[in-house]
Amino acid sequence: MTRDLTIAEVRLTPILVADAPLLNTQGVHQPYTPRLIVEVVTAGGITGLGETYGDTKYLEPARSLAERLPGRSVMDVNGLFALDLAVDQDRIRGAVDAGGLRGVQSADKLRLSVLSAFEVACLDAQGRALGLPVHALLGGRVRDAVEYSAYLFYKWAGHPEGVTAEPDDWGAALDPAGVVAQARKFTERYGFTSFKLKGGVFPPAEEIAAVRALAEAFPGHPLRLDPNGAWSVETSLKVARELGDVLEYLEDPALGTSAMAEVSAGLRGAARSASDKGGGGRRAGVPLATNMCVTTFGEIKEAFTEDAVQVVLSDHHYWGGLRNTQHLAAICDAFGVGVSMHSNTHLGISLAAMTQVASTVPNLHHACDSHYPWQSEDVLTERIAFTDGRVAVSDAPGLGVELDRDELARLHRRWAEDDGTMRERDDAAAMRVAEPHWRTPVMPRW
Ligand SMILES: [Mg+2]
Repeated sequence: MTRDLTIAEVRLTPILVADAPLLNTQGVHQPYTPRLIVEVVTAGGITGLGETYGDTKYLEPARSLAERLPGRSVMDVNGLFALDLAVDQDRIRGAVDAGGLRGVQSADKLRLSVLSAFEVACLDAQGRALGLPVHALLGGRVRDAVEYSAYLFYKWAGHPEGVTAEPDDWGAALDPAGVVAQARKFTERYGFTSFKLKGGVFPPAEEIAAVRALAEAFPGHPLRLDPNGAWSVETSLKVARELGDVLEYLEDPALGTSAMAEVSAGLRGAARSASDKGGGGRRAGVPLATNMCVTTFGEIKEAFTEDAVQVVLSDHHYWGGLRNTQHLAAICDAFGVGVSMHSNTHLGISLAAMTQVASTVPNLHHACDSHYPWQSEDVLTERIAFTDGRVAVSDAPGLGVELDRDELARLHRRWAEDDGTMRERDDAAAMRVAEPHWRTPVMPRW
């Protein structure tokens, strides 16, 4: 009977997960962030797991989808994506997209962000039923471990006084020395060898100094800087020129495809004229990466035609699942564009899904991003381990992870008891607790 793959029940559990006071150009992470855990249970008694954003605008379509799945097969993933998923347009317009850090907001992107969790849960259930890892269902792994980068943030030592929050032991990081100390902790704890700094927080000169300090502390290691579109074209070019010799890539320096294309053209021109003069120019053409101007299939054509980006950071949540991630990687490959992986605050179910799909992508040549080390809480019986900055690809059936029901219940209680302020992620609102006059900055900031 375990082979009866008809969906008998779908369980949705919204939770609030503790988060550290990580700064970005829009504000600061809230003390708790919403996530949604999806369980798809088959008639044969197998449960598949998925995870996605937990804000109300995702919960509502997830609930309507969950009601329609019983009676369908977990094998019918194409049918799942064909379901008409009503999305409240007003809610999208009025919603805060974590400060717009993930690019355009559209009904289709929101729909895919919900469907992806169900796709992952169906693939997990299929794998468990067949005794195969998810990567085998995706064509098989081409590597046995996936490399991740240390995701460095400017951060406060703790959330503002008087705010209910869980403490963290990372300390403050508000200057170059603090950033380097944080990077050292990442290497000691997890063995990461490449580093990404979330920028757009302080004036560019301070962030250039921080990256220079990292380059000095970790010579030769891949470094990235991501100001989330906070800079003008001119500032982007200036930073790229100053850091061109140490950056693996510069992520979303300017906002939007045309600004990115201008930066890209400026860098190519600089590289050409330097090489015409016979030296030193090779690294001036530092590649541009994005998880903001290419976030949907519809945005690819213009960006690639204009050579606006050289690396696309995929994210299976909003690209619409693990199979779409593979499709995206194939398109990037065809156009000679690199591919890696973006991350938002997430738990172990998503890390397992990211690792499974990343293991199947031949042209993944950069370490993936992950917020997981920042999450002290998880809903798994066993945390996923980073060894030498890598996650071993599980060959166990499905995603290879098990749900800790007590922990899931505890984090759900936190969500249920919240007065509503933490249920929608809003980094600008969280910043206003410390700085009452804070407003979402107008871009470009610098
Ligand atoms: Mg980014």
